[in-house]
Amino acid sequence: MRTKLIVGNWKMNGSRAVNAALLEGVVAGMAGARAEAAVCVPAPYLQQCQDVLTGTQVAWGAQDVSVHSCGAYTGEICASMLAEFACRYVIVGHSERRAYHRESSELVAEKARAVLADGMTPIVCVGETLAQREAGETVPVVSGMLGAVLGLLAPEQVAQIVVAYEPVWAIGTGMNATPQMAQEVHVGLREQLRARNPEAAQTVRILYGGSMKPENARELLAEPDIDGGLIGGAALKATDFLGIIHAV
Ligand code: PEP
Repeated sequence: MRTKLIVGNWKMNGSRAVNAALLEGVVAGMAGARAEAAVCVPAPYLQQCQDVLTGTQVAWGAQDVSVHSCGAYTGEICASMLAEFACRYVIVGHSERRAYHRESSELVAEKARAVLADGMTPIVCVGETLAQREAGETVPVVSGMLGAVLGLLAPEQVAQIVVAYEPVWAIGTGMNATPQMAQEVHVGLREQLRARNPEAAQTVRILYGGSMKPENARELLAEPDIDGGLIGGAALKATDFLGIIHAV
């Protein structure tokens, strides 16, 4: 039985004052939640998360990591630094990083390995563009992205990742994949996990991301292979984020 996981991706949003209200609102509304919850925030706010969220039901994490360990890499943040702020999760391979920073699947795989090496959980994002979906390329595209990660990690490490299926055309557009569309892709991803580590296929959580909101969360989360959500816009308002958490 996989416990559902709802993760907020704040992207490049926030301020100390806004975060304080948002985090306190989320924590206050967690009573009775059946899902695990986490927020992945801009790195400068990790200390604030650690201060506010330690001892609560809400975990925290980062949105990216360097493949390098410490050294002469100006502007980069390495996994050991994130671990010092007690991050549980690190998003790797978000489509915005693949698109705006030209991150390859091989680089994303190395990032996942770096996150695991420092005892945190990578949330590996995969997803197709609208053009790729319309060309019938969804399966090869997402399986190529996941395959790069599975190829680099040892089978026992595969059991420690979280996967997020995020169709690019659904991110921030208000256009979500239907539960059936997402379920179909999730089943394929789980089969791919099974080929690498049959036990991991049972336990690894596969989240859906792309315009999930309180109004559509229940239906999406009811699918047997949708193990939670990676939430962008709706994670910036405590009532919306909680609405998704309580939809579980
Ligand atoms: C995301 O950026 O991971 C995301 C799913 O965004 P949104 O929920 O806004 O579509």
